[in-house]
This record gives sequence, structure tokens and C-alpha cells, in this order.
Amino acid sequence: MTQAEFYSEGELVGVLTAQPINRVLDYKAPEGGCWAGAFVEVPLGPRKVVGVVWAGGKGDYDRSKIRSIIRVLDVAPMREEMQIFLQRAADYTLTPLSAMLRLASRAPGLGDPPSMQKVYRLGASEPDRMTDARTRVLAVLEDYGGLAFTLKELAEAAGVTTTVVKGLVKQGAVLEEDRPRDLPFAHLDPAFGGKTLTGDQEQAALSLRAAIQSGRYGTTLLRGVTGSGKTEVYLEAVAECLRQGRQALVLLPEIALTAEFLTRVQARFGAKPAEWHSGVTMTERRRIWKMVGQGGAQMVIGARSALFLPFQNLGLVVVDEEHDTSYKQEDGVLYNARDMAVLRASICGARVVLASATPSLESWTNAEAGKYDKLTLTSRFGEAVMPDMRAIDMRGESLPSDRWISGALQREVKARVERGEQALLFINRRGYAPITLCRACGHQIACDHCDARMVEHRFQKRLVCHQCGESAPIPETCPNCGAEGRLAPVGPGVERLTEEAQALFPDARVVTLSSDLYGSARALKAQIEDIAAGGADIIIGTQLVAKGHNFPLLTLVGVIDADLGLQGSDLRAAERTFQLMRQVAGRAGRSERKGLALLQTYQPEHPVIRAIIAGDEDGFWRAEAEERRHAGVPPFGRMAGIILSSPDVQDVFDLGNDMARRDGPLRQVGAQIFGPAPAPIARIRGRHRVRLLVKADKGAPLQAALTRWLAQFRPSNQTRISVDIDPQTF
Ligand code: ADP
Ligand code: ZN
Repeated sequence: MTQAEFYSEGELVGVLTAQPINRVLDYKAPEGGCWAGAFVEVPLGPRKVVGVVWAGGKGDYDRSKIRSIIRVLDVAPMREEMQIFLQRAADYTLTPLSAMLRLASRAPGLGDPPSMQKVYRLGASEPDRMTDARTRVLAVLEDYGGLAFTLKELAEAAGVTTTVVKGLVKQGAVLEEDRPRDLPFAHLDPAFGGKTLTGDQEQAALSLRAAIQSGRYGTTLLRGVTGSGKTEVYLEAVAECLRQGRQALVLLPEIALTAEFLTRVQARFGAKPAEWHSGVTMTERRRIWKMVGQGGAQMVIGARSALFLPFQNLGLVVVDEEHDTSYKQEDGVLYNARDMAVLRASICGARVVLASATPSLESWTNAEAGKYDKLTLTSRFGEAVMPDMRAIDMRGESLPSDRWISGALQREVKARVERGEQALLFINRRGYAPITLCRACGHQIACDHCDARMVEHRFQKRLVCHQCGESAPIPETCPNCGAEGRLAPVGPGVERLTEEAQALFPDARVVTLSSDLYGSARALKAQIEDIAAGGADIIIGTQLVAKGHNFPLLTLVGVIDADLGLQGSDLRAAERTFQLMRQVAGRAGRSERKGLALLQTYQPEHPVIRAIIAGDEDGFWRAEAEERRHAGVPPFGRMAGIILSSPDVQDVFDLGNDMARRDGPLRQVGAQIFGPAPAPIARIRGRHRVRLLVKADKGAPLQAALTRWLAQFRPSNQTRISVDIDPQTF
């Protein structure tokens, strides 16, 4: 793949499709010819499918049998750098190129001609009469304020008939507009709404501006405690990127945060950017995909899949909360969006900004080694300072077995409530209780399809499997022994903690923040805004609260079980606990009042707990890096997880043992193999899973060796093999 090449009619070209055949197939260029990279429609067996002109044809079989490309689609051709990106990403993750192309061609209606269409948005008038159905329609429009829906999409999203929407149009509560299907996005003005930066922030912004002006690839790790202004700083980088006429992409780990973020971008640039995630309608996706490709979208806010949009001139990728584990795609193509952002930027000469208060060990190591630039914001904006941190030694507590809030924590909560401040109690467990136990026979209710317990969700009156989502009503009798009324919840979840807090503080306003308790993004956003405005005294929350919300009245954070993440043999456990605890503690004292964070623990001497309390970040990373270096694991060694899954448990173990025995190609590059062992989740949706771990030195050609090794095996039809380079747990 060198310069974009033109193929005239009848010439042989290789077309890659997203079909699982995973081969570049020969076709004849259509009438009028085509460019390399063109999106085309080709016949494949009896079907017509979309593909990309990938290379010249090989012509290694009967020329008369080769069919012609049907037509060239009216979208910008895939740029050469995108082809290179997909190829390298495929090589790195050991994913078929066709699967990569599928990620990059997720544009609904790719071949449809441009046209006008009717779209619907929120109007200014109130309807004369509110019904449930009408409320739902308006709620959907409010949830995605900036986006337009077609009639069918809107009705479907709200679960109503199109008549309901039309009724609202008649009353002016919903507006109907004719719009070109692929309208460019509103212009973002880099000179609009800039803030005066503090000294620290200005230094960082200057350095990023210069980096972007250079027009060369580079990665910057932007560190700074929560509230130090990292977002303000990287928005200045976006501004510079826009001034250069290049496009910017900001990745966020959580869709729940986009609404808040869009408002902020609008305040900074005078208009909303494009947003790309699972909540975006098909109409809108098609528009975004096309506009990103034609330069009609200057900035995209998105989930990890936005990395595969066809940017015409990408100048900046920001990965916010870069340490967040949700950047790792754990389904289908297994990739880490942070690593792919660096890969993509290095190919197209863009800057990457990795922003975090608690970077991943990988990024910290790269910054220490000088591979990444480092920028640090040392203080919080305004008067806010990091909270005091203390451990509460739970060994000295004598709480009843169904209570979790220690006396010391209770006293601090009480003081906050009396002063009109807010307290947050954090527990990283959704639901009421993690275990439902039969007191008669000792049976624990488990999911039928997964290796997981069913978790009681009392607010919904159901048992839910957190692996596969399966749910069932809470039974009255034990499914094992039939005993009646002997099922009991064991252990705390966020709902049970809410109950305890309400019992301790009957007059306080207690609010639960957990992702499963809100039906829509709008409901969750409204709750968060209400808390920020002082509408709650005590907040009980899961991981959801650790991310990005600003509650000015919050001055106390109590971590119910700081040891939770330290259990198990996961080598990343320390890193995760450290990050999570620092993030949660950072919620306290974001305005002028100083905060306090209390960690309930049974092991106050544990090095991780001590590092959290001492706030000694670099000390922690150094110690953690030393351990990993010693163990030869990422980022100091290379690893791959090979997951075998099948409905038949014997199948997967037989194959796994065979693979472990015939490890010649791996040994050739000095790699070691461990397993097979039950995977971290040993059964999901009825499929048994075993895992082999392959470990190699940093410089070893691991992918090539894995490819040669895997080629030796022919798994049965029902068995699937998936390769996970740099697995999250090891
Ligand atoms: P971070 O991304 O590091 O958590 P933010 O950029 O969100 O920090 O900043 C925290 C809060 O302080 C935000 O409400 C932000 O608008 C405000 N802030 C930060 N820096 C400035 C500044 N220079 N001028 C005005 N407000 C600022
Ligand atoms: Zn399940």
C-alpha cells in the first residue's frame, strides 16, 4: 500500500469485505474505474455486500470467473492511513482483518444516496395533556438533546406508536423538520468561551499547543488530581487542533458522562460536537460517519469504537480517565482503546493526551521511561485541596453480622448531616446482597448458565446474574432442598447499605447511585444534578460515583470495604484498588471545604492501603513496577490469554491440554505457557471456558509465534478460540 492508486475499468483489484471469510478477493474494476480505498458494492455468492478496494488483484485463478464490482459508493474512500491502522491493529490483536474492517464500516445505509428527511426534535410548547406515552417521547428527546430522530426511531426508542409522536407535533411539543440526511455539524469556534488558566494549567496548555503545532505524533500523559483542571487543559489542546484545521476525538469511559461533557464543550466552543456511542440513533450514526469522513465534524466525543471512524485529518486524540478498565473491549475483537489510540495517532501524525488522576501502570512506566511526555497539574483549582485520608481498623469493631458502618464512620456522617454537608458511602457492589443462602441446606443460589452467584436486587424484587443479565423473581423456597422461608441475604450491596444508613439516620435524605437503578440516562443525570444542588444528605454509591461528578457540598467519603479489590490472585488488584480508592476519595472537598476520606479495612498494614493513606503515588507506582518487573509481566513482559470455550467441558480441556503439549513454536521464541485452567469466568451463557496464558520477554515476536502455534489446531465446530493480547487479569 503506497500512494492511492487508480484502477481503470476491467483491471483486477483485491476487495476486502467484513464477511468472516477473511480474504481479499479479486474483482474487476467497474465502469469508470475506482481508486484504492473506495467503498464498493460487490457480488458475493448470491448476495451483494459492501467492501473496500484494498490492493491490486492477484489474478491467481481463472480470469473469466472473476466478477465485476457492482458500483462505487458515494462516500469518501478509506484513507491509506486507515488501511495501515486496521492492518496493524489486526496483526497486534491477532484478529482477522475482516473483523477490523467491520469496526471501521459501521455506517448504516452506507450506500444510500443523500436526500432530505424528516427529523424530530424537542419543541418549546407543553402538550395540553400528559400521558405516559407522551412523557416517554419527551424524555427520549431530552436524553439526547442534540440528536435528531426519524419518526420510526423516535417511536421505537420511546416504545410508542408513531401516532403519539404526530400528536405531539400537532401541539408544538415536538418539532418536525426537513433536513438533508447528511448535514454538517455546527461550527466549533476555538476562540469562544475560553477560561483564564492558572499558572500550572497554562504551562501544560502551552506545551500541548506547541506539540500540536508540530504536526507530529507524540503522546502526553496529563496527570493531576481530580478537579485540577485536566479537562480545561485538554480542551485548550482541542482548540489548538481546531485552529490547525484538524479534527479532534475525545474518548470517555462512560456514556453516563457524555451529557455533562457536551454541555461543557458547548460552553467552550459555542456549539455541540458529534457524539458516537451505543445510545446514538442509526440516522445520526450515518450522518456522523459521513461527516467525519468529509470533515463536516470537527470534534467527536465518543466511546472506544469512535477510534474506527474515518477521520479525514485527525490531529488529536484525548483518552480521558485513561486507566479505566472499560477501555478494554472484552467482547468480539479484544482491544484496548488506549493502545489503539496511540497506534492510530502514530500513523496519522496526531497527538495523544492520556488524562488521569491515577494513570495505569503501563502509561506511568512509559512516561518514566521518556516514551511519553509528562505534564502534571499539582493542585486543585480554586481553594479545594485533597482530602485527609485515614484508615478505620475494622478488627477493633464489634458490629453485628448484618451491619457494615463502623462507629467512627457513623460519627463523622452524623457531623456532616448536622452541618448541612454531604457524606458519600462507597461500596463497589450493585444489588442488595451478593449471596443468597439457604439456612437449611447451605445452598447458594447460582445462575443456571454461568459460573456466578445470583445477586439479590431487592428494589426490583429479583435475583440477577451480573455475568449474563439473566434474572428471576426471588424464590420463597430453596431451589435445592425446598425449605420454606429459609433463604437469607449474606453480605452487603449498595441497596442494603442504603437500608442501614436510613435506619441509622432516619431524618436524613439518603440517595442510592447505582447504574442499574435508573431507567434512562436522563433520570440518572437529573439525580446527579439534584445531589449537586444539595438534594441529598447521604449518598450511597457504587463505582459510578467515582467518575467525574462534582458535588460541592460533599466533604466526607467513607469506603465500606477497602479490602474488596485486594482479594484474589489478580496481579492488577493492587493497581485497581489504588486507583479506585484515590478516585473515590477525590470526590470529597471539591469546593472550599476540606474533605475527609475514611477507609474501613481489616488490613491497615497492607502496603496498598498504606500507600493510599500516605498519598504517595510515585512511591506506590515504583513499588508496583518493581513487582511486575520481577514477575516478568506487562508492561515489563508480554502476555496473551487464549480462551477456549464450548458447551462441552471435556472438549475445551482436551483441546487445551493438546495446545499446551504442542508448544514448539512458542518455545522457539522463549515463551512459556501456563494452563489450561478455568478462565476467570469459568462459564458464561452455558459455555465452559478455559484459559491458557502465554508469557514472553518484552522483545519476543509473540504474535508471530502465536500465529504459527495456533495454526496447528483444528477445534471442533462448537469450540471457539479467542486470543486476548495484554489481558486485564493475569
Ligand atoms: P479535572 O478534569 O482535573 O477533574 P476540571 O477541568 O473538571 O478538572 O476542573 C474542575 C472544576 O474547576 C471544573 O468545574 C472547572 O470548570 C473548574 N476550573 C478548572 N480550572 C479552571 C479555570 N482556570 N478557570 C475557571 N474554572 C476552572
Ligand atoms: Zn448468568
